[in-house]
Amino acid sequence: MNWQPKEDFSVTVKLLSAAKEIAEMFWHEESKYCLLCGMPSSSGVCSNCNKLYFCPEQQRCFSCGKLLENGSNQCQDCRKGHGPKFLDKVTTFGYYGGAWKQFIHNIKYKGQPYLLFALAQDLTSWAIKQLPPPDCIVPVPLHPNRLALRGFNQAEVLASILAGYLGISFKDILLRTKDTTPQAALGRQERLANLKSAFDLKPGVLIEGEEIWLVDDVVTTAATIGECAEVLKKFGARKVYAFCLGAGREKLE
Ligand SMILES: [Zn+2]
Ligand SMILES: [Zn+2]
Repeated sequence: MNWQPKEDFSVTVKLLSAAKEIAEMFWHEESKYCLLCGMPSSSGVCSNCNKLYFCPEQQRCFSCGKLLENGSNQCQDCRKGHGPKFLDKVTTFGYYGGAWKQFIHNIKYKGQPYLLFALAQDLTSWAIKQLPPPDCIVPVPLHPNRLALRGFNQAEVLASILAGYLGISFKDILLRTKDTTPQAALGRQERLANLKSAFDLKPGVLIEGEEIWLVDDVVTTAATIGECAEVLKKFGARKVYAFCLGAGREKLE
């Protein structure tokens, strides 16, 4: 029988190496541009965007996560007692504006939560620099109706990335019991009223004495993370720290 496997095999090898070359080309292309502004960059986010949106040198209000201008570590609102009550510290990764706001919108509203994986290392480094180590990492939940519409919970993706990177237990233990009006459409007082009793702990979960990182995408008035922290503390959590992707800047009067 005149069988010539060698020739067929070499065609396969040629095809495979061509496919690898194409893949490498795209991989290389992808890593050459900033994820936020699209300009050429040797790292995932260029130094300009890093400065503009991640503001690593800038203080955050430890009570609500807002970025501060005046060198203190707490904003005026929180100093007056208007901040969330049950959080031991809040940190935010970046300023919620411009290209970073657009990036977060793409994650949430354009169904691109995988974009977060490209920043996994940066997000994790920031979190461990700012917060004490936790026993577990808990995402702010979406109401089942909203989850059904969106198909995923961005806070859950973020929390699981941090948990996976750090080897810390991921616990999806909170329930959103009220399908509330989106917070963005409301004023401060309305937000607080809107969220009253909107969260609960899943039945049978024990968190007595635990130190928890609570994770959400954006913090505005901190009403959402405040309500979640209240539930966690009510059920015995010893400390609750929050990590969010973005927050606004303090507006000084
Ligand atoms: Zn950039
Ligand atoms: Zn504050």
